[in-house]
Amino acid sequence: MTSDAVSGALPPGATIGILGGGQLGRMLALAAADLGFRCAVLCPDKGSPAFDVAASHVCAAYEDEAALAAFAEGVDVVTYEFENVPAATAAFLAARKPLFPGARALGITQDRLQEKTFLSDLGVAIAPFAEVSDLAQLEAALQKLGRPAVLKTRRFGYDGKGQVLVREGMSASEALAQIGNVPAVLEGFVPFEREVSVVAARGRDGAFRAYDVTENNHENHILRTSSVPSSLPEETQKGALDTARRIAEALDYVGVIGVEMFVVREGGRETLLVNELAPRVHNSGHWTLGGAATSQFEQHIRAIAGWPLGSTRRLGRVEMTNLLGDEAHGWEDLAREDDTRVVLYGKAEARAGRKMGHVTRVRPE
Ligand code: AMP
Repeated sequence: MTSDAVSGALPPGATIGILGGGQLGRMLALAAADLGFRCAVLCPDKGSPAFDVAASHVCAAYEDEAALAAFAEGVDVVTYEFENVPAATAAFLAARKPLFPGARALGITQDRLQEKTFLSDLGVAIAPFAEVSDLAQLEAALQKLGRPAVLKTRRFGYDGKGQVLVREGMSASEALAQIGNVPAVLEGFVPFEREVSVVAARGRDGAFRAYDVTENNHENHILRTSSVPSSLPEETQKGALDTARRIAEALDYVGVIGVEMFVVREGGRETLLVNELAPRVHNSGHWTLGGAATSQFEQHIRAIAGWPLGSTRRLGRVEMTNLLGDEAHGWEDLAREDDTRVVLYGKAEARAGRKMGHVTRVRPE
């Protein structure tokens, strides 16, 4: 334990606590180690990829207060690699050690309704939306927003899970049943041309740095490739970075944030609508590992440790491709490619669609 965890920058040798043991936690722990930190990872899953690379780990439920108390005792700062950390867990830890991003940012970004309300209050352009807590509200919302529309659970959605496209002919009750009759939001369907994202960081001192806008391609709702630079006009890119900055400032955010956006064409011009926020490092920022002066993982560690943020300069034209399911078995061929960075997450089982690793290819501009 180091004594200056709250006031100044965390010195090398300090311990960073990470909630969640997936690939994001793993890459955070590796980046932290490069800066001389130790990491302790807490995750309920036995085979967590981050356990293999952390100085210590606790395999316990997020509700296990005895385990949380011991975890808090051994760390100087706490962060997380996924947004579904229970609010009570975050509050329990935040009462004992600094938690970044803070509990308010986590609370807003883990609930689609709160997130959309926050964004619209901030004046950020988003798709029209309505709260859906029962069938009558869904029927009224469908009247208002029309069809098709997208019904999404307020919580626990990822990679297109927990959402349904409500087309002509689908009854409101069937749509609600499909998402498990849980609290939801209805969103107007956005006929977007492309999807982009901004991955950015805000430091404990309020400094802000963003990576270049990334263009993302999805297949079956799962990210397939991210490429930079995007083909958005300069002006639109600037607007996207500015939106990310306003969001981070309004959340009093500390750490890396992912801002997903739809590109829509309106009257011959491309404009952006924010789709979703991720209060963590983001899959569309994986290209920064090898493709930028500072990776998003190092940047997150710098931010939460109170260090100066690193340069977000891009090192060339970069494309990141996720390795899904048994594609990761092709590691030997990929390892033969020059200028290709192969990152494998050490997951034992290559289930279909599971993110097993990624490759990043950097080409001169
Ligand atoms: P999300 O879970 O909100 O990130 O949504 C997953 C994917 O579903 C997005 O990346 C889009 O491809 C699609 N999608 C989500 N919301 C909408 C919408 N309102 N209109 C059209 N497509 C959407």
